[in-house]
Amino acid sequence: MRTRYDLSVTRFICDRPTCHTVIDVPSETLYEGEVWCPRCDSEAWAKYVGTAATQLPDKLQLPKQFHLLPVPRLEPSDDLRSANLLFRPYSQRSFLRQYIEWLKLGRLEHICDFQPSATCFKRYDTERQCYTDEIDYELVDECNGRACQFLRTETVKPIRDDELWCVALKNLCSVGKPESFCDTNDEAQLLRNFLLLTGGDHFPMLIPQASILSGQKRPDFLCFVPITAFQYQPTAILVDRPAKPSTALDNETKEYENLGYTVKRILVERDHGFSYFKAARELKNWLASP
Ligand SMILES: [Zn+2]
Ligand SMILES: [Zn+2]
Repeated sequence: MRTRYDLSVTRFICDRPTCHTVIDVPSETLYEGEVWCPRCDSEAWAKYVGTAATQLPDKLQLPKQFHLLPVPRLEPSDDLRSANLLFRPYSQRSFLRQYIEWLKLGRLEHICDFQPSATCFKRYDTERQCYTDEIDYELVDECNGRACQFLRTETVKPIRDDELWCVALKNLCSVGKPESFCDTNDEAQLLRNFLLLTGGDHFPMLIPQASILSGQKRPDFLCFVPITAFQYQPTAILVDRPAKPSTALDNETKEYENLGYTVKRILVERDHGFSYFKAARELKNWLASP
């Protein structure tokens, strides 16, 4: 996922019914001109995929007066170069930094003492046995002296409550606490497992209960998935229990699609061997697939 935030191309898909070739145009910013489809060998019927990064919401309103920005505001003490490497629009790391600031504002105690840092170095080319001009970097995310679980855990099995030390993760993924936003236990459990599955890299955040359309809609989660450096796929993730009638679901899906969101539904069917861990893993793989 990390490489997508840095991918300097504009991605198009040829829209001819039998073609659908992916066409990447190298570019410094979003390219909006004509594109040639190599498969049709003519000008492609194409529109760039997703939404331009410049069209991402410039702020999201969460419950309890939490205003989420795409990337956090920097403090004068922040190192600009490492901040550029650390914080990507609506990523988990950007969210965590702002969540902790919000907790501090509300004087909510027992927060995780999250310390991100980036080390830059020149890439070594083993084929040519020399350093290249490309800069690579390594991120360190610690909370309370250990790897921050919110950002760094990439578990392959469910994690028990008594194995969690990241206080931010525990508090955010709960229901009914002053530090939490999720409406239901289903949402809290999905978020918890998603965060524990996706660590170790830049990953888009599942943003709980963000208001869109001036408060008319509050999807369970929003997620802005990077396609390239200049394009994102806005996604609404809706968590349902089986009771809802399908026409209501279809109408709701259409409303989000009209706003430019792709809709992903997660059906929680407790009687049918449902597991939050498996559902979160499926969601992670779905978001990461190209
Ligand atoms: Zn084509
Ligand atoms: Zn932490």
